[in-house]
Amino acid sequence: MAVIQVGEDPASSIYVNNKKKACEETGMLSYGYHLPIETDEHDLLELIEQLNQDPSVHGILCQLPLPKQMNEFKIISSINPSKDVDGFHPVNVGLLTIGKDALVSCTPAGVIEMLKAYKIPLVGANCVIVGRSNIVGKPVAQLMLKEHATVTITHSRTKNLPAVCRQADILIAAIGKAEMITAEYVKPGAVVIDVGINRNAAGKVVGDVDFASVSPIAEAISPVPGGVGPMTIAMLLMNTFTAFQRIEGII
Ligand code: NAP
Repeated sequence: MAVIQVGEDPASSIYVNNKKKACEETGMLSYGYHLPIETDEHDLLELIEQLNQDPSVHGILCQLPLPKQMNEFKIISSINPSKDVDGFHPVNVGLLTIGKDALVSCTPAGVIEMLKAYKIPLVGANCVIVGRSNIVGKPVAQLMLKEHATVTITHSRTKNLPAVCRQADILIAAIGKAEMITAEYVKPGAVVIDVGINRNAAGKVVGDVDFASVSPIAEAISPVPGGVGPMTIAMLLMNTFTAFQRIEGII
């Protein structure tokens, strides 16, 4: 796996290091490329092309966000879709949407894997997703549809959000607002997946769900830290292994 970081964003540095560490633990080789913040877009495109051509590289990941002078869509689109282990390339997004084999965005894939591991019934379940981003909300909706759930996607303009959320058998929060989802949003007995990673006023890492008020009424709830975050890394390794097998003609 080739991991590219441009600049010094502290959160990105933590994510990149965690990914490299996970590679080492599983015996997967990782190549790190740390470029200065003022790197020219052209130079990054050249590096990606070199990695696209390199037969020893099966996964390429470009840590987001990128500096302002770079066009994220152009950069992501330049990665060979077969090596796009983040699942952000438009080809992989399209394949997911039409229900074909794709490299699926890691956080949404981790959410589904977690639900399945805990044997949460998905077929026909009412699933409400708060957040419609391209990296979490939309792909998790596609995956839940694939699992035959009935899916509602909500966002900042949704009217009467607590009432919509209370319809959910499975509530997935991917908002980026510390502890916004309180017990008022949750039907007793619902399963709650918290994708958010935020810092609260005290500087503590918390999710989008107010764990203290929601956990007593939820059937199950994923913690932050320790829930979806580690699943995301696990799915990144899975995607890299899948990419390796496909490129080498093993599957
Ligand atoms: P994003 O791109 O900022 O999207 C946030 C979404 O939440 C948007 O669709 C936005 O609606 C919606 N939203 C914002 N305020 C809202 C409100 N008051 N009511 C209802 N909806 C609201 O964020 P993201 O990239 O999807 O990330 C979401 C969270 O997940 C963040 O905390 C991020 O750090 C975390 N995350 C975690 C992982 C992991 O590995 N665990 C991976 C990725 C992201 P509009 O579209 O209307 O603006």
